[in-house]
Amino acid sequence: MAGFPEPLQRLIAEFERLPGIGTKTAERLAFAVLRDTPAEVGSFVDAISSAKQSVTSCLRCSNVATADLCDVCADPTRDAGLILVVEHPRDVVSFEKTGRFKGTYHVLMGRLTPHEGAGVEALSIRNLEHRVTSDRVREVILGTNPDIEGDATALVVEKRLQGKAVVSRLARGLSSGGAIEFAGTEVLAEALRLRRPSGSGG
Ligand SMILES: [Zn+2]
Repeated sequence: MAGFPEPLQRLIAEFERLPGIGTKTAERLAFAVLRDTPAEVGSFVDAISSAKQSVTSCLRCSNVATADLCDVCADPTRDAGLILVVEHPRDVVSFEKTGRFKGTYHVLMGRLTPHEGAGVEALSIRNLEHRVTSDRVREVILGTNPDIEGDATALVVEKRLQGKAVVSRLARGLSSGGAIEFAGTEVLAEALRLRRPSGSGG
């Protein structure tokens, strides 16, 4: 039985490496690329390589950036004394869409998943501790996802910041288990506005 030609197999294999892409989807994507004009393919290849070359991590908050500092950290009108801790740059985008948060972020670049082997040291918590002690931070809001791993991550961050800053948590307006990146902007804005001191339960 003849399979796909080697170059096509290779393209399918590259798509299949990506998260959430199974063999059938990878095949569909590969055939879609083959239907593209050379100019479209060139633009696709260029987008991949230029994103890889120019997108880096903010030195302060670990958010995605194209310079030393991300757009939020580089903005002098943002309140550096207020930090919202999130798991992923996608969450930054979600909170930015609310238009209500005027502080800065700290992106952990992950969450605690002990069974998958991702430990505390893989997260950018040390940088956060450094910011809190050196930048006169008034309040740190824990904005991890409202699920088991998000809560475990928040607990660890809170312990590390004990006695160094006021720590608060988002209000439970977010449905438990619902991811921040899929929450509506009004829900997120309310969760921020109604945040409460950490350790108060609920
Ligand atoms: Zn930043």
